[in-house]
Amino acid sequence: MKILEVRTYQCKRYYAYRKTMKIVNMSSFPPKCYYCDSKNFGSVDGYERHVVTRHPNLPGYPGPADIKYYRLEKQDMYWEREIKADFEWK
Ligand SMILES: [Zn+2]
Repeated sequence: MKILEVRTYQCKRYYAYRKTMKIVNMSSFPPKCYYCDSKNFGSVDGYERHVVTRHPNLPGYPGPADIKYYRLEKQDMYWEREIKADFEWK
């Protein structure tokens, strides 16, 4: 497969995965900040504004690798999950 085809495949795979995980509402945000005690952001905008202004250079939506690297507390958000290598999509 060509590089572009591989990328498209991975992208499709990821979207299919999100669908099966019932991740329909993409505009979600964590109940509290990963890096400080702030909470009750009210909206994605509020959360992103907080992370960008208070914690520049830190990921607002940490993946499994970030969680490990920064030793963050998991909040059961979809971006924290690892995509299984054996995941099948149709
Ligand atoms: Zn914070």
